[in-house]
Amino acid sequence: MSNDKVLRIAIQKSGRLYEDSVQLLKECGIDLRNVKDRLKTVSENFPLEVFFLRDDDIPEYVCDGVADIGIVGQNVLVEKGSAVRTVEELGFGKCRLSIGIPRNMEYNGTASLQGLRIATSYPNLVQQFLDKHSIKASIHEISGSVEIAPGIGLADVIVDLVSSGGTLFMNGLKEAETILDSQAVLIANKSLDKEQLEILDKLVFRMSAVKKAKKNKYILLNAPNDRLNDIIALLPGMRSPSVLPLAESGWSSVHCVLNENEFWERIEQLRAAGAEGILVIPIQKMIL
Ligand code: ATP
Ligand code: ZN
Repeated sequence: MSNDKVLRIAIQKSGRLYEDSVQLLKECGIDLRNVKDRLKTVSENFPLEVFFLRDDDIPEYVCDGVADIGIVGQNVLVEKGSAVRTVEELGFGKCRLSIGIPRNMEYNGTASLQGLRIATSYPNLVQQFLDKHSIKASIHEISGSVEIAPGIGLADVIVDLVSSGGTLFMNGLKEAETILDSQAVLIANKSLDKEQLEILDKLVFRMSAVKKAKKNKYILLNAPNDRLNDIIALLPGMRSPSVLPLAESGWSSVHCVLNENEFWERIEQLRAAGAEGILVIPIQKMIL
């Protein structure tokens, strides 16, 4: 790899994706100094230059080659329809784009939207959704505070991002249907050269290791030797669990990696099978 080639990444300047994006780069071992109040910064230990932008602009900048790669929500990416490559789902910035309707309105599926006025900041996404279901409705594009539109008579229903539903509730609305599940993704320009692709590969390799590590925990436990086989049978392993004898005879220490999805269930089964002194340790990186 040549020394002077740098990959340019666009991330959100401030907002809901900012912290997680910077954190992810840091966890990938990429030093970023003076990120506050900067438009761009260069890493001193990895060939990466970071641009801080409004999230709405990121797909276009990456598409146009102003930046080589970017981190942006799928909601924004699909709405903009920019011709970029999605490289990796990043597992943060999770939210859903949903239809919000007045709490007293009856909803019998998408047909209930026929002829209504829909307020949204996502006109393209909503139009695609309506077309797919052969519904005719009028879309009113507004850029912020979409949830107040029904209350002030601007629209009948809304389509907006929802995480807990609290904002909808406070505005007399309820969630009727999700039209897109979204999370942050890493996107790339479609015509990166060989050197840029090599840097991207390195970055993606590190991101995958960080992401896998977050989904797993390292478990240490003590097992009576006469229950060892039952306990080992409960454990998945990257190969198989490690088993070490303890100083106290008749006991072993068992080490393994557990996935967050099955974590609590397994812990309960392990206790029931006679495991004691269970320690759960976060994993920083996982390279398989
Ligand atoms: P910008 O100033 O960059 O345009 P913004 O106000 O458009 O920022 P934010 O509210 O910071 O955007 O949200 C950025 C992204 O975070 C959203 O596009 C979405 O992908 C994601 N997100 C995650 N959870 C939520 C949520 N509960 N509400 C809104 N967006 C969320
Ligand atoms: Zn935005």
